[in-house]
Amino acid sequence: MEFDYHVKLLQSIVNQTRKAVIGLIALSSILIWIYFDFMTTTQLLFWSSLQAVFIFMRHKNAQYLKKYLAEENSKKIKLHTIAFFILMVYSAIIWNIGAIYMAYAAPSPYEYIGFIAIFGLITVGTLSLLPIFAAYIIYSFMLISPQIIIFYNYHTNMHQGVLLLCLIYMPVIYMTSKSINQNSIISIQNEEELKKISITDSLTNIYNRGFFIEYSEKFLNTSINRNSDLSLLMLDLDHFKAINDNFGHQCGDYILAEFSNIIKNNLRKNDLFARIGGEEFGILLLNTSYKESIVIAQKICDLVKQNKFIYENQKINLTVSIGVAQKNNDLISFESLYKKADSNLYTAKNSGRNQVIAAI
Ligand code: GH3
Ligand code: MG
Ligand code: MG
Repeated sequence: MEFDYHVKLLQSIVNQTRKAVIGLIALSSILIWIYFDFMTTTQLLFWSSLQAVFIFMRHKNAQYLKKYLAEENSKKIKLHTIAFFILMVYSAIIWNIGAIYMAYAAPSPYEYIGFIAIFGLITVGTLSLLPIFAAYIIYSFMLISPQIIIFYNYHTNMHQGVLLLCLIYMPVIYMTSKSINQNSIISIQNEEELKKISITDSLTNIYNRGFFIEYSEKFLNTSINRNSDLSLLMLDLDHFKAINDNFGHQCGDYILAEFSNIIKNNLRKNDLFARIGGEEFGILLLNTSYKESIVIAQKICDLVKQNKFIYENQKINLTVSIGVAQKNNDLISFESLYKKADSNLYTAKNSGRNQVIAAI
């Protein structure tokens, strides 16, 4: 068992916190009511204040998790997930203090009430704790172990019978919770896989047109707000129709995939590269000055020309034409940037291809 969790499942911990806290208050109140005759006010206040600390901390923990999940701050998410884990151990200790004390302070059959409450907590825990499976298992184990010792010490058939029932229930609860946990993870993975397919171009394995436009618009707005540089490169492979005609459509497909690989491997992590359609590609360069983006475009141009594309032992010469557009006071919408880059690309084509045009 490892300390493993899926970030998306953590969201459900945040969502379940309110219900978990309400349930906890209700359960604690009922137990206090039942055991009122056997405890002094000081003892009740002491135990209630331990619970109050837990409720406050759980509430704070959910607030932090919510904030850092929204910010996708993985370091802080991990930190508060560990805090959640520690909180669960603390909670199990509080319940045990109550249950163990009651088993000795109140006469039989009051121990059964503590037992029911503990089993209730383990069952309800599946809802709010399952995202961190290790936390759930440790919480359950910590809750059930003292109960086993308490019941074992009564030495009646009734108590031994309840223990045996417990031995049957525990694996069932474990298997059920494990399967709920795995199903949740599988459904998240399916969702992520579908999302990935919907934004990827199947031939080249890079982003597709829809994703490129959506994200370019988003990053353009961020860049305007932060007053940072941004430029758009439009690329179109030269005489691509001739490659298809001379070497076949399959060779054309191979060139498209190979070209995409080369460019992808030569870009920076934050550059967005996508197939716009056919043999046209787009690159969005964030935090990149006008001069830098021309250097990058020229590097791509040279790289493609120098690369040896070999298909079925035949060497294919490929070149690319690139139009560059830089965000400025006149070009602050994606449409206007796209238009500018496209018109520069058109000029590159008309000026002999295999070149970069970056006219302002
Ligand atoms: P230019 O230098 O002016 O861009 O000439 P070009 O031949 O590249 O341009 P044109 O627009 O005339 O032809 C583009 C060709 O790209 C035609 C089309 O069959 C080919 N093409 C588009 N998508 C694919 C694809 O997915 N696979 C293959 N093999 N070819 C494709
Ligand atoms: Mg074209
Ligand atoms: Mg072309």
